[in-house]
Amino acid sequence: QSQELSEVQIDYHAALQALVENGTRMVCTGRMHTDRICRFESLCYSTEAEEFVYFHSNSSVMLPNLGSRRFQPALLDLSSVEDHNTQYFNFVELPAAALKFMPKPVFVPDVALIANRFNPDNLMHVFHDDLLPIYYTMQQFSDLDLEARLFFMEGWSEGVHFDLYKLLSNKQPLLREELKTLGRLLCFTKSYVGLSKITTWYQYGFVQPQGPKANILVSGNEIRQFTKFMMQKLNISLEESSGEEYIVVFSRTINRLILNEAELILALAQEFQMKTISVSLEEHSFSDIVRLISNASMLLSMHGAQLVMSLFLPRGATVVELFPYAINPEHYTPYKTLATLPGMDLQYIAWQNTDREDTVTYPDRPWDQGGIAHLDKAEQERIIKSTEVPRHLCCRNPEWLFRAYQDTKVNIPSLIHTIRQTVKSKPGPKKQKWSGSLYPGKVRDAKCQASVQGTSEAKLAVSWQIPWNLRYLKVREVKYEVWIQEQGENTYMPYILSHQNHTFSENIKPFTIYLVWIRCIFNKNLLGPFANVLLCST
Ligand code: UDP
Repeated sequence: QSQELSEVQIDYHAALQALVENGTRMVCTGRMHTDRICRFESLCYSTEAEEFVYFHSNSSVMLPNLGSRRFQPALLDLSSVEDHNTQYFNFVELPAAALKFMPKPVFVPDVALIANRFNPDNLMHVFHDDLLPIYYTMQQFSDLDLEARLFFMEGWSEGVHFDLYKLLSNKQPLLREELKTLGRLLCFTKSYVGLSKITTWYQYGFVQPQGPKANILVSGNEIRQFTKFMMQKLNISLEESSGEEYIVVFSRTINRLILNEAELILALAQEFQMKTISVSLEEHSFSDIVRLISNASMLLSMHGAQLVMSLFLPRGATVVELFPYAINPEHYTPYKTLATLPGMDLQYIAWQNTDREDTVTYPDRPWDQGGIAHLDKAEQERIIKSTEVPRHLCCRNPEWLFRAYQDTKVNIPSLIHTIRQTVKSKPGPKKQKWSGSLYPGKVRDAKCQASVQGTSEAKLAVSWQIPWNLRYLKVREVKYEVWIQEQGENTYMPYILSHQNHTFSENIKPFTIYLVWIRCIFNKNLLGPFANVLLCST
């Protein structure tokens, strides 16, 4: 036997012995299954049972230790889509002694990130549900570096966008089906299970009609850090726009078509005096599309997943989203929400076809391409007569699908008029520097001095120092907000002041205790924190 092989054998026996003696160790972050990510040592997976296995021994750890609440409804969400009941993660438990009777474990030496992709054939889902969450889950845990390996457990095949997933780590991602070829019992030396939801901005309408998430926690900065990483991996340089400005029309070639696209492209070129290029996922490579979009002044497209590519647009660019007849743009805003995230610095414009003459419907197509022939006659007629799809839940509403898969002859004067209401001169990256918005710290050394005049009048002189960070910043406008509250009262008097001191006399009574709250405001809308409350007795 070669030296190498025997070394592997020694390692194998050591690993097996560690598993038998130590069992599985799990420590998680998050209080609920919807915000939980777990780190494991020696988590195993039976490819026959298609179940994860947790081995109990004298040294195993399970935190949180939920008892049967682990099944109510699950330990955690395996995808970034919140609380979706097809995406739950759990494991079955065994004593480590059972390993004696089980297939010999195969050890996975790489640090693993184990998760589900949600819908890997749809580009919006790919970026929003998978790529961004995977990227930022890897940023959260330092041993999930470029040498980590991704394991996709949702059970799909690679899908058309698999090359994008491959950019996130140097190791080939593995799919659930491929695990069978590795062995009957796999044991992950170190693994993380679950995805961070911190970057997602949209909910798809599983429990309430679709819309922006209630509490968005991501800004354009983090989106752009991610796109910078992706572009480096795609070998696309972030060169300063090398001259000519242009418009990109992102077309769909299979369905939801723009019927007069050639005419539209000419009209845009004419109106904005810019070269106008058309791209599609069918006819261009992903890198070419990113390269073009990352220097474009305007991106125009029908509503659809391809519009998620606006995350590659440069700051200052304009996104124009076209909606087919009877689809209210306000009800479908994944791309509007993205474009208007703070710090994305994109202009967003929606245009809707409001003319029945300009739409082409496909009632006889299969239901998943918007056909309605399977519905009863009265329902078909109602849908055809309707002028707006009512709000609905995901994902099979036939009226929505019918309208979503219409083709549209774009009314060009109407579209240009809509764009012109927002884009007054030339669209595109402004030369001005986009200043990030920084918030003030607390005001410091707040003091008050009271003076009483007679039995009914009093004055309160309040002063404070600037927030500590202001001395290092250039801020256009600095104001202070002061609230004066009589102790024990629910109401207060608010003031906006420009200086660092003020003497208050209206409604100030003698022999009374006042609570004084002070905060700093930069540029009208950047509100800082209140300093500790100041107690002032007159
Ligand atoms: N797609 C495309 N060209 C087409 C139709 C679809 O590139 O003509 C892409 C689309 O961008 C998405 C995927 O195919 O990534 C699925 O499209 P679908 O219409 O199901 O979803 P939607 O775009 O409405 O989210």
